[in-house]
Amino acid sequence: RIVSPASGSPNEDAIERALRPKGLAEYVGQAKAREQLEIFIGAARMRREAMDHVLLFGPPGLGKTTLSHIIANELGVNLRSTSGPVLEKPKDLAALLTNLERNDVLFIDEIHRLSPVVEEILYPALEDYQIDIMIGEGPAARSIKLDLQPFTLIGATTRAGMLTNPLRDRFGIVARLEFYTPAELARIVERSAGLLNVPIEPDGGFEIARRSRGTPRVANRLLRRVRDFADVKGSGVITKPLADRALAMLDVDPIGLDVMDRKLLEAVIHRFDGGPVGLDNVAAAIGEERDTIEDVIEPYLIQQGYLQRTPRGRVATLAAFRHLGIAPPRADAD
Ligand code: ADP
Repeated sequence: RIVSPASGSPNEDAIERALRPKGLAEYVGQAKAREQLEIFIGAARMRREAMDHVLLFGPPGLGKTTLSHIIANELGVNLRSTSGPVLEKPKDLAALLTNLERNDVLFIDEIHRLSPVVEEILYPALEDYQIDIMIGEGPAARSIKLDLQPFTLIGATTRAGMLTNPLRDRFGIVARLEFYTPAELARIVERSAGLLNVPIEPDGGFEIARRSRGTPRVANRLLRRVRDFADVKGSGVITKPLADRALAMLDVDPIGLDVMDRKLLEAVIHRFDGGPVGLDNVAAAIGEERDTIEDVIEPYLIQQGYLQRTPRGRVATLAAFRHLGIAPPRADAD
C-alpha cells in the first residue's frame, strides 16, 4: 500500500533514517510539541538532570521516532530504543534499564503493547529510578532492589487511550502529534529532495505534499516513487504535471486517498447505507484488521471530514459521497 503510513522494507527503513532530521530546528511543523520540548530540553540541560518522561502519541509516520532521536541529540545523551511487543519478560526490560548511563533516553515504541508484568517493573523505575528483580527460583527466590541511573523514558503510541492509567500518569510531558499541513509537507519534500539529489520544481513538490495524507513518511515515500517515474518517463525533473501523472498511476487520488481509503468509504456507503456501522463489520467487509483500520486508515479520513466516529458506529459524511461521486441519500429518506 503506497500511502500506508506504516514503515516498510529494511531498505526503506535505511532511507528513512537518512532523511530523518537530526535537530529540533530541522524538525518541520508540530509547533506546539516543539515549543514545549524546547523548554524542557533547555531546562534539563541547564540543570544537568534527566528530562521528565515523555509520551508521544499520534498516527504512524508523523515523526514520533524522529522526535525521540532529536530529544536525545539535543540533550547530548545516548538513546536506547526498543518496542512494547519485543519486551517479553521483565528481565528484558531490566537488562536495558540497568545498562543506561546517567540521563540517557530510553525509547519504547508501541508502549501500549507492553505486557502487564513488564509494565509493573517500569513503575518504580520511572518514579524512583529503582527496579525490583527476582533472584533464584522456587522457595529460595527473593527480590532485590537495584538502583538505576536517572533517565528519561520516551513512550510512543498510536493511541493514548490504550495506555493503562498508572502508566499514563507517570509521564510528565504528553505531546500529541498532529497531521501536517500541505505547506509543512512541502518543506519536508523539498528537504528530502535536496538530500536525495532529486531535481524538483516547487509546485511538483507541493503536489506530492498535498497528496501525502498529512504524513511525512508517506510524503517521503511518494517522493521516491515519483522520482522513479521522472527518471523513466520524464526528464528526471519532478514537475507538477509529472507528479500528477505518477500519483494517478499509483492510484493516489487528488486528495491523497488511496485504494484502501476508498474501499473503506465505499463499503460504508454501499454496503451499510452510509452507516452507522460497527468497526468489526467494516473490517470484515474490506478484509482488513480492526487495528489497521483504527490506527492507520481511519484517523486521516476522520480528520479530513470524510468519516465520523459516532457511538453507534462509523458514518460516511456528505463529503465522502461527493468525493466518490455517489449521490447522497436525501435528507428526508428516513
Ligand atoms: P513514527 O515514529 O511516528 O511512525 P517516524 O519518526 O519514523 O514516524 O517518521 C517517519 C519519517 O518521516 C522519518 O524518517 C522522517 O524522515 C520523516 N519525518 C517525520 N517527521 C518529520 C518532521 N517533523 N520533519 C521532517 N521529517 C519528518
